[in-house]
Amino acid sequence: MLVRKDFHVHESHSRDAPGALVEEYCREAEIKGMDEICFTTHLIISGPDTSNSIKAEEIPEYLEEVERAQSSTNVKLRVGLEVDYFPEEERRLESLLDEYPFDFILGSLHYIRGYDIGAMEGSMAFFGGRSLREALNIYYTDWKLAVESGLFDVMAHPDYFRKYLHYTIPEPPTLDDYGSMLFEAVESMVSYGVGVEVNSSGYRHGIGDCYPSLELLGVMKDGGVETVTVGSDSHRVEDLGSRLEEAVARLRSVSYEYICTFEKRRNHVLSLDEACSLI
Ligand SMILES: [Zn+2]
Ligand SMILES: [Zn+2]
Repeated sequence: MLVRKDFHVHESHSRDAPGALVEEYCREAEIKGMDEICFTTHLIISGPDTSNSIKAEEIPEYLEEVERAQSSTNVKLRVGLEVDYFPEEERRLESLLDEYPFDFILGSLHYIRGYDIGAMEGSMAFFGGRSLREALNIYYTDWKLAVESGLFDVMAHPDYFRKYLHYTIPEPPTLDDYGSMLFEAVESMVSYGVGVEVNSSGYRHGIGDCYPSLELLGVMKDGGVETVTVGSDSHRVEDLGSRLEEAVARLRSVSYEYICTFEKRRNHVLSLDEACSLI
């Protein structure tokens, strides 16, 4: 099965995606038979990894580059950002995001209390220093704040911390470990109309699974979260669309029968039959 939409794609303005050029992604999408991709370069305005971020002054050229590429491909190109949320930076993020005509804004939590949980060292320091339930309550407290900030259309990879968590705690977290804050965060997603992404990069991170886990996506479905997108989180051209069939299978397994795409920050709902083909 081919999933023809990928709404989480890093090109070379994300400094951790060097050489992943917009034009080459277009050719890759054409070869693979995909018909819509959304670039979501990193915007990280605080913390230890601002050097991986697009610079604010580069945003106009980023938008222009995607617009230029659109003139030579039939693949629909959308342009967005994956924005790291920092509670103390809401105002600065709001004015930056309002300034440009983005199609889609993904919210992310790669950093918690100053720890980079997407790196082994940061993950072990954060999760090693407290009980799992306490750690996840902290995580979903910030997640809830991100949802309620109104800055984001969809929250990316909702249990991204699983990337290295198994180095500290070998057993996968249970719903009991997640604690009550997760459920409060899901309620906020519903009341603020914020969606969730199923992200297939866990297959490249060695966890052999999508983010979120089946159990967590079930909580979101049961809680009433309606908007769902899928993304490969590609940082290399060849990873465009990678393992998205697993993301779609995960959606189906909790009875989502559609995915959403975004244009000018408005969502479109497509049945899985429309978004996928059997080849
Ligand atoms: Zn991310
Ligand atoms: Zn990403």
